[in-house]
Amino acid sequence: VITQTDDIPENLHPRPPIITIMGHVDHGKTSLLDAIRKTSVVSGEAGGITQHIGAYQVKTESGAILSFLDTPGHAAFTSMRSRGANVTDIVVLVVAADDSVMPQTIEAINHAKAAKVPMIVAINKCDKPSAEPNKVRTELLQHEVVVEAMSGDVQDVEVSAITGEGLDTLLEAIALQAEILELHANPDRAAMGAVIEAQLDVGRGPVATVLVQNGTLRQGDIFVVGEQWGKVRALINDKSERIKEAGPSVPVEVLGLNGTPEAGDVLNVVETEGQAREIAEYRKAAAKDKRAAAGAA
Ligand code: GDP
Repeated sequence: VITQTDDIPENLHPRPPIITIMGHVDHGKTSLLDAIRKTSVVSGEAGGITQHIGAYQVKTESGAILSFLDTPGHAAFTSMRSRGANVTDIVVLVVAADDSVMPQTIEAINHAKAAKVPMIVAINKCDKPSAEPNKVRTELLQHEVVVEAMSGDVQDVEVSAITGEGLDTLLEAIALQAEILELHANPDRAAMGAVIEAQLDVGRGPVATVLVQNGTLRQGDIFVVGEQWGKVRALINDKSERIKEAGPSVPVEVLGLNGTPEAGDVLNVVETEGQAREIAEYRKAAAKDKRAAAGAA
């Protein structure tokens, strides 16, 4: 594996935050992800063709860039974590104002706390006459989530995924939280990132959506990802555009894999194809041994 120059402070640059939306079923996670994507597509081509690649970037009114994981739900979050890919910087906890705190709300709070990821509460469905945002705030207290409106330090924003009310405020709240976190990466080193989705595409072969976490991934780079390896043949962004390189916190589809990796696998750029093949084969063999041992036990 390439020896990296240490990421000394002068090499570090601010990077966009990576956000996961969590909450109880039907509280509006998917609707919120769709609404956010529509309000502010990066580079401003409103109504531009976007495709689902598992993550997307938006630009807030004040110019901050935010990367959203486009797969709501807790399974993705925990499986990524268990595979060692701690990609999420901020959790947006969605709570429907007409339903308040429910079992999966509590589960999401526990996941965020266990991962030590800061939370922002989006009180959704505030357009509904039956909405009771203050009930949400009070019930959250019982789970040690003290929102700003209750003199705590967790930001809370009233929103409606349907009318769009509060969405800009929510995005600015996320940008503010990100500033506090002082997220940095070194765009000048060899890339590493996490697979957030992967499939075998009929026309294109194995395709993985990778969230670059450090460094810059470029066309032609040789990499290992889990038990697979490859050489970047093409990079495609969340607007279906072919791009030459992807820097920190950029989600990108990677073509040129020799096999299909799994969500949560870590991608590392290496120097030669020989190295890449060797590492991938070693990992395959190790995984096989492990399965055999588990089967024998
Ligand atoms: P998820 O299961 O958390 O992803 O929830 P969905 O996004 O699928 O939303 C569940 C239902 O709530 C759908 O019928 C949405 O149309 C509705 N919904 C979501 N957000 C809002 C909102 O802000 N206001 C209203 N009135 N309905 C909403």
